[in-house]
Formats: sequence, C-alpha cells, structure tokens
Amino acid sequence: MLSQPIEYLKGVGPLRADLLKKELGIFTYQDLLYLFPYRHIDKTSITKIEDLTSMSDYAQVQGKLWYFETTGVGSSKRLTAYLKDSTGVIELTWFKGLTWVERMLKQDEVYNAFGKIGFFMDKPQIVHPELELVTNPSAAVKSYLEPVYPTTEKLKAKGLGGRQIGKLTASLFSLIPEREIEENLPAYLLEKLKLISRADALRNIHFPTSAAMYEHAVRRLKFEELFISQLRLAMVRMERHRKSRGVVFHKVGDLFNDFYTHHLPFQLTGAQKRVLKEIRTDTGSGHQMNRLLQGDVGSGKTIVALLSMLIAIDNGYQCCMMAPTEILSQQHFAGVSRLLDGLPVTAKLLTGSTPAKERRVIQQGLAEGTIQIVIGTHALIEETVQFKNLGLAIVDEQHRFGVEQRARLWKKAPVPPHILVMTATPIPRTLAMTAYGDLDYSVMDELPPGRQPITTVHRYETHRMKVLEFVKSEIEIGRQAYFVFPLIEESAKMDYENLMTGYENIKAFFPEPKYWISMVHGRQSWEQKEANMQRFKNKDTQLLVGTTVIEVGVDVPNASVMVIESAEKFGLSQLHQLRGRVGRGAEKSYCILMTATELGNEARERIKTMVSTGNGFEIAEKDLELRGPGDIEGTKQSGVLNFRLANIVHDKPILDAAKKWAEEIVEKDPEISLPENTPIKQYLLSLKGKTAWSKIS
Ligand code: ADP
Ligand code: MG
Repeated sequence: MLSQPIEYLKGVGPLRADLLKKELGIFTYQDLLYLFPYRHIDKTSITKIEDLTSMSDYAQVQGKLWYFETTGVGSSKRLTAYLKDSTGVIELTWFKGLTWVERMLKQDEVYNAFGKIGFFMDKPQIVHPELELVTNPSAAVKSYLEPVYPTTEKLKAKGLGGRQIGKLTASLFSLIPEREIEENLPAYLLEKLKLISRADALRNIHFPTSAAMYEHAVRRLKFEELFISQLRLAMVRMERHRKSRGVVFHKVGDLFNDFYTHHLPFQLTGAQKRVLKEIRTDTGSGHQMNRLLQGDVGSGKTIVALLSMLIAIDNGYQCCMMAPTEILSQQHFAGVSRLLDGLPVTAKLLTGSTPAKERRVIQQGLAEGTIQIVIGTHALIEETVQFKNLGLAIVDEQHRFGVEQRARLWKKAPVPPHILVMTATPIPRTLAMTAYGDLDYSVMDELPPGRQPITTVHRYETHRMKVLEFVKSEIEIGRQAYFVFPLIEESAKMDYENLMTGYENIKAFFPEPKYWISMVHGRQSWEQKEANMQRFKNKDTQLLVGTTVIEVGVDVPNASVMVIESAEKFGLSQLHQLRGRVGRGAEKSYCILMTATELGNEARERIKTMVSTGNGFEIAEKDLELRGPGDIEGTKQSGVLNFRLANIVHDKPILDAAKKWAEEIVEKDPEISLPENTPIKQYLLSLKGKTAWSKIS
C-alpha cells in the first residue's frame, strides 16, 4: 500500500501528482509520509492584539471582522481587512487571490487569523494570513498542533500550500491501517536504544499527541535515517574488502629495512607508524587498498608515502606519486631523491615540461620496469604512460584532482593498483563518516616533535605600518615573508587591482635593490608562476606577494611570516592552508591576519578560531559548524548528505551510535540475512537504487 503512486490519493490526481514529483520528489504514499513538517502551529493559543510585538514572529489572533476594502489598480491592487478584538485592531492584507478571499469574508463574523506578524507605522499586520471562520467562539478549542509543510510557489498555485499538504497527509493516515507501516529496524535495536516504533514515529512527527512524543518521533527518525545510510556505507566497504582483487605485497623486504635502519633522518611519530601499519595490512590482504590519508599540514605525509613505496618495490612492483602542480612534483622529487641517495632505486620526474626526448626515455623505462618510482603531475595519467607492473599509486593533495582523472590511474595495471590519497585539508570526522564513508581512512593527528607553534595574530588595516615594520625586522635577520591577497572569481577584476595596488605599496616600503619581491597570481602563465616561486625558494627574493595559488604544499622552510590581506574574505580551511606555509623550519614563525575594522559575525568567528587554535581538525569542525554540511567542497553533488531530519553537526551522538551499530551488524551479518535483521533487509530492498553514492575510487 505504501508504494502506491501518489496520484491515487484522494485530492491529488494526475496534475498535482506531477507537480509533487517534480517539486518535492514525492512519487508514492511512502514519500509523502517522509515529507516532514518544518513546524507546527499551536491552534490552541490565541494572542491578544495588544500583546503583539515586533518579536511575536508567528502568532494567531481571534477577532470580529470590522470591515474590508479593495484598493489600488492593476498590480498594486490589494485587499485589506481589519480584525478587531477587545484589545485592538490588526490589519490583514492580500495581494493575490483577491476575488476568492473577498468571497469568503463576512463582516461581523469571528475569525482566527494566523501568520507572520509585521508592523507598519506601529500597527500590527499580517500579509496573506491563514484565515478560518470560527463558528462557535465560546467552545473550547481542541488541543491540536497543526503541521506546516515545506512547499513551493508552483505547488501553492495549484492549491498545495504548506497546510493543504498537511490535509493530504492526514487523509493518508486515515486510509492506511497501522500495520501497513512496517518496522524497518530490528526489535533488539529498538529495545536497546529505547526507540519508538516506525509507525508511532511517523504518526507523531506529523500529528504529535504531545511534545514528548514529538521528541521521541524525531529521535527515532533521525536514527533511522543515519543508521540506514551508515549501513549502506558499511556494506559497500565490506563488499570491497571481500570481493575486490588487489596485488599482494607479501613482505617487508631489504630495501625497506635498509632505509628504515640507515637512512631515515628522524624517528617516526606514533601517528606515522600507525598509518604505515594500516597501509601494510591493507596491501597484504589481497584486496585493493582505497585509503584516504588525512594529515594536518606538516604532519609528515611524504615520508609515509615513501616508505609505502619501498614496500611495493620490495615486492617487485612500481609506484607513482601524483601532485597537483609542477612545483610540488619537483619538490617531492627532490625530497625523495635526497632520501633515496645511495639506495638501488631509480626514481624519475615526469611533468608537462619534461622535454620530449627525456619523456620517451622515461616512458620506455616505465614500460620495461627499469624505473621503480615516477613522480609527476597529471602528465602521469596520459595514455602514453604505461607501466610494467604498477602496484601503488599515491595522490597528494587529492582535492585538486577530479574523480575521473584518478580513475584513469586505476586502469594502468591489469589488477588495479593500491591507492593512497593524501590530503592536508582535514575533513571533519562527521563528514568523513558520511560523505567519504565508503573509503577507509587514516588520520595523522600528531606533528613531529620540536615544531614551534606558529603565533597567529589579528591586526586591523589601520596597523599596516606596524605590520610592515615587523616584516622588515624578520627580513633583516634573514627570513622571508609571504603577502597573500584574496582573489575571488566573481570580482576578479577588482581583486586583481587590489593585488596590484597592494604590490605597489609593499614595493614602496621594501624598495629595490635592497629588497626583491616575487609576484605570483592566476593571470600569469604557469612558467612565469613557477619561475617566480623558484626565485623565492632559492632566496633570490625575500618577499612573495601573491594570491592563493601558493596555497597548497609549497615548502620554503626559511619563510617565517605569512601576512594574509583581507583575511575576512577567506574561508577557514584556506586560512589554515595558507598558515601552513610557514613554521616549516626551526625558526619561530608568524601568521598575521589583516582585516578591515568592520567585520561580520561569521568572519569574526573565523578569525577568532584561527587565532585560538592551530589544529586543522578543530578548524575543520568549526568550518562545518559555521557553514553547514551543504556548503563543504565536494559534498554538494554526493547526495549522501541530503538528510531530511538529521544534521551531522548537531546530531553527532546519534551519528556515532548509528555508525557503531551499522558496523557491528554488517560485521556479524554481511548479507543481512539473519532472521532478526529481516526488517532491515526488507526495507533496503524497497529502497534499491534510490541513493547515489559518493566515491573517490
Ligand atoms: P605534509 O604532511 O604537510 O606533507 P611533509 O611530509 O612535507 O608534511 O613534512 C613536513 C616536514 O616535516 C618535512 O620537512 C619532513 O622532513 C619533516 N618530518 C616528517 N616527519 C617527521 C618526523 N617524524 N620527525 C621530524 N621531522 C619530520
Ligand atoms: Mg605534503
């Protein structure tokens, strides 16, 4: 019965059904039951007109219709009615459907009017109120919370406003017998978590019998929603662990051991060791590894990548490591080559600027297997690059790579290589659990010892001179500094001009030939950008003025000051990334957030967060809290975050419980075939094919 098409419901019909499908995605009776009201109107409470204030928000008044009139012509035509109770008069106004409303109005009758209270010249008014004729004003009003539903202009025009949808829902409830709403959670879960039944919850979320029952209904339905999504993610993970084929790295061999004991320049942190162990387990399992490694800026992901590559090589496989930019690839290549000095490993760099002749030699080496490690940009995924036996692909700073590009890597070997995706933009745990829940993930939440915390301060524009003096004093003692300006697409021209003016001002303060400045921005060709970056890296320039193109991965340990101009225009994760460009050497480092003196609330929160913490995970959580899950990069299309009721920020405890139970159940009953889990199985079958999954791999 619940799968009946919505047009069969009395009062719907084909026309409205079509709109319900298009506008709200309601196809069946069940879909209508899962369209939840966003508020309830308490029909029992009536406010005296004199008690209305500008803080009243939505309210209901009761009074006698004093008189009404139509004024204006054409589009400014309006109907105004005056309702009077013993304490005052309220103005009710309509701009649409005048004829219809006028026909309904009867002078001297008593009406209830409900709506958003506004004030015009100190007089209370409601625009487009909900009006109800009161036939027996002295009778006690039945205690009753009326649901109001989300709707759209198109639906309203066809008579399906927020309240009318409620009438449909009510008629649906009177139609379906209780037992038609089958339980979809196992009995033991309901009992353990003290959840009410699905039938009770659905009825009470629409038509609550009490405030307490409403709360129970919301909790139960939030859990149901998060649990079902966690269960499906756990099943995808389980499926991949059991069924995917992957190359097996049987052993940790001589190369790894030799490097580990004789060449490793420092002790690994606990987090690095733990992640390495996770990778080791994955790659030895016979199934393909799909792991997302999140580590805060500077947590030392590169060495973990290198050690993983050595394990692959010990087992006779090749590796590749992709980075989003030329300069990052070069940096990785230089670092890796230095570390591997004296070891029998051949590593090559392959980027867009590799000369054709050298490129051919590298391609041949990769095809024949004489090159074990290749590091580079997207040039690595071109068709012409073939491997003899690729076993491990590492992708650094994944958020710059598209899913499709990564997929091309997978195809470079008969058995898909293991994949390690590394990102320095921490993802809040709740997001990782939902949007990326089908991947395995590792977290490195520990910085190598001896790092000096970066001092972060907030300074207003008005203190520019002091800031410049400070930067000068740092340069005097041999350090380098960044100045970063915002560059936002929509206002690119203005931002570009700001950057140029900023550059001129900085240059006036730091004149040549004593000081040299590199400038990097998005309008330069990449050769220009790289050349300017390189000059800064080589200490030919002391200052680098630029836009966020420097954001990711750049490593200049001698740079000790990061000045972020108009910091209020940056998002939290961007600010954190930018700050991560300093504090990479032994020197004390500073991040100066420059802002205008006038700041909005959210901008103030962001700046405050940056000043108070250096922990990327805390910052990511705050970012999610401020912006909400819908706005986080890369999650918009994924569909897995479109929860009806649950909010992964506010309902974290419910999410945790849902995940715990989902994993336990899938572990114990991977096919969901035990009798006690039948309710889940039935429900999953009824959902089949309804949700799209986000997938990095
Ligand atoms: P990220 O995680 O941001 O990519 P990197 O891999 O670039 O970080 O490492 C940042 C710096 O920390 C590098 O200079 C690296 O050599 C150093 N480093 C990494 N691990 C350790 C460690 N365990 N002890 C000391 N220094 C380390
Ligand atoms: Mg890195």
